[in-house]
Order: sequence, then C-alpha cells, then structure tokens
Amino acid sequence: MSYQVNDEIFSRLKFDNEKDRAFSSELKSKVTTYLKNQSNSSKGSALSILKLIVLYSSFIMCWYQLAFLQHSLLSTILIMAIFSLTYIAMAFTIGHDAGHNSMFKSQKINNFVFWITYNLLGIPPYIWRFTHNHIHHHYVNIPGHDIDIEKNPVLRLTPLADFEFYHRYQWIYALFLYPFFFFNKFFANDFRTYYGIEKRYFKNIKHPFYRSLEHVFFKLLYLSIMVGIPTLFSGYSFTQVLLGYCAIMMTISFFIAFTLAGSHLNLDVSFIKPTKEGHVSISSMEHQIITCIDFHPESFICGFICGGINAHTAHHLFPSINSIHYPALTRIIRETCFTHGIAYKEKNIFSLWISHYKYLILLSRDSKRQEALLAAGLGQK
Ligand SMILES: [Zn+2]
Repeated sequence: MSYQVNDEIFSRLKFDNEKDRAFSSELKSKVTTYLKNQSNSSKGSALSILKLIVLYSSFIMCWYQLAFLQHSLLSTILIMAIFSLTYIAMAFTIGHDAGHNSMFKSQKINNFVFWITYNLLGIPPYIWRFTHNHIHHHYVNIPGHDIDIEKNPVLRLTPLADFEFYHRYQWIYALFLYPFFFFNKFFANDFRTYYGIEKRYFKNIKHPFYRSLEHVFFKLLYLSIMVGIPTLFSGYSFTQVLLGYCAIMMTISFFIAFTLAGSHLNLDVSFIKPTKEGHVSISSMEHQIITCIDFHPESFICGFICGGINAHTAHHLFPSINSIHYPALTRIIRETCFTHGIAYKEKNIFSLWISHYKYLILLSRDSKRQEALLAAGLGQK
C-alpha cells in the first residue's frame, strides 16, 4: 500500500539536529561498538526465544485452566493474576518487539509473531503499526502530532490542551476511567482510528477492504476465545465468565494506562511546542530523551515483563534494537547524557505512578501560571 505523511502536519517540523551533533555521534558510536561485541547482533537472542516459549505456554495453560476447569476461589484468583501478568508481558515484550522488527533477524518471522500475538491479545496489529511506529515514536509529546495525546473528550493530558470546567475533577474520575482503557480502545478507538484519524495524519491512505474484514473477524475471534469458549466449557454462567474477564482486563488496563501514560506524561517530562514555522529548537535525539522516563531499566524482572517500556528512553532512541539489550544501552545513554549535560530521567515504578497522578492533578487546575510553566517545558533542567 502506498501512502505519504500529511505535509501540513509533519513535514514542516524541523528538529535542530546540528545542535547535539557531538552527543548523537558519540551515543551512536558507543552503541555500535556495544553491538559489535554482541554475538546475537541487535535482534533477540536465545533468551528472547525462551521468553516467547515461556509466555505463550503460560498464556495457553492459564487460559485452559480458566476456560475448561473449575477451581477454588483462591486458585482462580491466582490463575487470573498469572494470566494478567503474562498478558502484559506478551503485549510489552513479544508483540511490541516483533512489531518493531527487533525480535528476529527475519522480517517475515517478526511480522508473523507480531500479527499472531497482538490479534490474540485483542490489539489490531495493522492499526497499531501506523499509530505507534509511524506517529507516536517520531512525534512523542508534540501536541497536534503525537496520536497518543490526541485531544481527549474527558481528560486533559497536556498543558497545551484547552481547559474545561470538568477537568477540575479529572484526578478523581481518571481513576475510574483508566480501568476501561482496553475496552475503550477495543470497542471505540480502534474503529475511530481506522476510519478517521489516520486520514488526518496520512495522505492517499486507502485501507484494502480485506483489512476491515480482518479487523472485525479478529475482534470477534478474540471475544470468542476470551468469553465464548469459557462460557460453553467452564461450567460457569455467561455472567460469571464476563465478570471474570472484565476483572482481568480492568486490572491490566489500570496497570498499562498508568505505566504507559506515566512514562511520557508526568511532572518530569517535557512537551515540545514547535514554532509557527515548525521549528523545534532541539535535536530529534534530545527530543526523545526529554520526553521519556525510565523505571528500573536495568532490572531483569522488569525487563522480562515490561520489555522496552521500563527502558523507554533506549526504546525511543533505538526501537529497532531488541529490548534484551536495553539495560546495556541505558548505561551508555545515562553516561553519555551526563557527559553532555542532557537530562536523562529515571524513577522507581511507584514514583512514576505518583508523578503521573500529580500531573493529572496539576492539569486539573485552570492556572495560567502552571500552563505557562508546563508549556515552557517543565522538567528541562
Ligand atoms: Zn515502541
């Protein structure tokens, strides 16, 4: 399919890449040297294959236990908890890495794993690649450009968004909306994006008809696997199965929404406001660094579950490199940023969540002072 990005939105944006030439050359050269010393190149290693096998096995075993058997309440809750963690890890590490072609050397195998994994998790891979790879990654935290902070009907997510009276209470109702993140995406946003938003971002984009069929078919298949089969074979009623499924997805949604949003939207990140002519006063590499926050980027467990999300800076700078390398890349990024006086930022996961919540509170106030402060780039210290 041929398409081009919408010139009116994107091509006027010009990053000042001359500004940090020394920084970017040093960082790229250190990363190249690191990769040369890795036998497994920039893609996944035997550990990623093991991770894929472990997570798929866990997903199938938990699903089988929930869909075909009955257990005590405590055991059921335990299985649901393991299933939820597996679900998150598959989305954040297997699907995400494969979607960036960083899991295997072969693009065909990456596409296959990406397509299977995201359809199995109820995330349409075709739509995700446009919104995540093409838009979010390049224009993170640039209002009007980053699709992830598109004008939200109920939440004020950037300091540059208009203030409405109800935003005063968003720090309360956000807690009740976040658990519905997945359902909102699955039943509404995916369709809105497919039939509307992309046309704003891309020109000459024509989705082949079979993509619409594929989209609807896999959503129905997903619902059959998650709710239909368990209703038929578990011995529980439809209502009980639905409640169990909703409990799992609401927990996953709350975690993902808080963690993903927190890694770009909190008190320590910056927003980029290009000039009217589209000029951005920093380089594209610095842009990625000041708009991301890492949490436990060198932790094996965090990396196993969250992949590139916990080492978000490394992921945004080097998305085509597998998340298995991010602990090492983070050390290189941290050290190079320190040498060049660029603010690399890192928190523990609880501080990340708290900072995101405080950010929602800050944006719930109609204060000219905080708007000016944030618009100027809060966190650019
Ligand atoms: Zn990504």
